[in-house]
Amino acid sequence: MVLEGFAPYAGGGMMSDGSPTPPVIACPECRATGRKVGLVALDALLTEEAHSRLGDGECYRFCKTGSCDVAYFGERAAVIFHLTDLRVPVFQKSSEPSRLVCYCFEYKVSDIEDEVRRTGGSTVPAVIGQKCKAGLDRCEEMNPQGSCCLGNIRQVVQQATPKKADV
Ligand SMILES: [Zn+2]
Repeated sequence: MVLEGFAPYAGGGMMSDGSPTPPVIACPECRATGRKVGLVALDALLTEEAHSRLGDGECYRFCKTGSCDVAYFGERAAVIFHLTDLRVPVFQKSSEPSRLVCYCFEYKVSDIEDEVRRTGGSTVPAVIGQKCKAGLDRCEEMNPQGSCCLGNIRQVVQQATPKKADV
């Protein structure tokens, strides 16, 4: 399938000495190493316009740098998807309390912060853990990072929990 607007592999996929171009693993804009993400996430989360730029057989990486506008970049082709190319806000790249941190079961950052404020802790990590164990999660396609949100959830809980010294 030939996709309109898809640039072929940069440099034709070959170095000048004929060896294959090494895969791009660092974000083209912030230079942080991106994490490999399954195509299923891009497939589900990209806007229609952005989706038309998906290359056949390309591998993508997710940039998690909070201040960087890049969501995904291709390992071989010069394809970059920015935050505006996604249908959902990316947890790592927004400070909006109403953004989702768990995309499968739709927990917002503010839900967890409110619970911690009210009760001093959060039952969300345990609830999500159980749902994942039961096979109800679809992190690979629901979460822009393409993997389970539990690490991010714990981070939100920890940040919302007052330090002992503050109490
Ligand atoms: Zn980046």
